[in-house]
Amino acid sequence: MLYSQLFTKTKKQAPKDEQTVNAKLLCRAGFVNKTMAGVYSYLPLGLLVLRKIEQIIRQEMNAIGGQEVFLPALQPAENWQITGGWDEIEVLFKIKSRTERDYALGQSHEEIITPLVQSYVNSYKDLPLYIYQIQQKYRDELRAKSGILRGREFGMKDMYSFDLNQSDFDCFYAKAKQAYLKIYQRCGLTAKVTEASGGDFSEKISYEFMVLTDAGEDDILYCDQCEYCINVDIAKNKAGDNCSKCQKGKLKKARASEVGNVFDLGQKYTKAFDFYVVNEKGIKVYPIMGCYGIGTTRLMGVIVEKYFDDKGIIWPLSVAPFQACLINLGGQAAYQKAKEFYQALTKAGIEVLWDDRQESAGVKFADADLIGIPIRLVLSDKTQGQVEWKKRNEEKTELLSIEQAMQKLKPEI
Ligand code: ATP
Ligand code: MG
Repeated sequence: MLYSQLFTKTKKQAPKDEQTVNAKLLCRAGFVNKTMAGVYSYLPLGLLVLRKIEQIIRQEMNAIGGQEVFLPALQPAENWQITGGWDEIEVLFKIKSRTERDYALGQSHEEIITPLVQSYVNSYKDLPLYIYQIQQKYRDELRAKSGILRGREFGMKDMYSFDLNQSDFDCFYAKAKQAYLKIYQRCGLTAKVTEASGGDFSEKISYEFMVLTDAGEDDILYCDQCEYCINVDIAKNKAGDNCSKCQKGKLKKARASEVGNVFDLGQKYTKAFDFYVVNEKGIKVYPIMGCYGIGTTRLMGVIVEKYFDDKGIIWPLSVAPFQACLINLGGQAAYQKAKEFYQALTKAGIEVLWDDRQESAGVKFADADLIGIPIRLVLSDKTQGQVEWKKRNEEKTELLSIEQAMQKLKPEI
């Protein structure tokens, strides 16, 4: 992509009402734009990052047998009345049509997926099924704060599992947990897993995936020796207590952001929609459901909260909008050289942003640092046909031949 054609521009100042690092940097660098409190537009750079995150999630969901769908955000009120959500869920946005019909905006999709799957499942042999989507969700959150960490419209991957019995469910639940950890790791994050009771589905166990960050809204206690972790809201323990799991470590308190969770839904929804199958023994069974959410836009914000410095964002390569930022400085010779280099990189399948603007070195370097592309490549009269290679997170520079630089950059697969 040519920087000169990018319609967004970096800004010196973040919107005044933005408090958090993710909002300030993402707005200033032109990844997102605030439309109103809790609602953001995703701009070309932001969409590139979001699509990378989604693709990592998609690959890992497919790897455990997930089938992707795309469900409606505009939903009939009747489905929500069947489960009681219409009256019980405070964050549900309700819409009245001019025809007096009521609709809901999807805050989650159990009410849609359950009757949908029911309409295709004729026999116990059709199960298990694992269906997911990546879509916008709408929630009437009282306080939309923390930039893209908590929105009223936000991106989510939601998967729903349908199993015939508890042991099949438990088996998939464990697999999904592992897939989640892999997703966060591929995004450059370490997630801690808290065990919690499932809120609405109180007797069931749910797991929350927490990334330590002061921008988060949750307080957790975690063991400094083992993987034990628990949400303070439900914990009987306090900081400094001995770990009840490994008996060796001490519990530490930290602020965290919930980047995903998995719930055992039991038969709540299958019973509500009277979705049952007759099993091989001739017994009527209501499938056991699980739901598995990951906040895709929140994940993007949390990555920024973990990877930044005083100059801007430092994207991990796996989710960076581009692998490299090419900068030409000085006269026509460097411009021509950069043009050829840019064409060769693009042809080789390397994602590169070429800052081809007629701007000073200071402006180009500052923008490259703010946007946070992992590798900076500079061609100038000084580099004499060679290219200066610098990583965003390191100070040192290296002078390489064009061929050497090409070899070090890997094409996106
Ligand atoms: P939270 O406790 O943060 O409100 P939740 O328990 O309501 O989250 P779910 O309804 O299960 O979470 O949603 C799944 C995931 O979607 C969450 O783990 C989180 O990553 C993300 N998420 C939830 N609410 C929001 C929001 N308002 N804005 C952005 N992401 C959200
Ligand atoms: Mg919530």
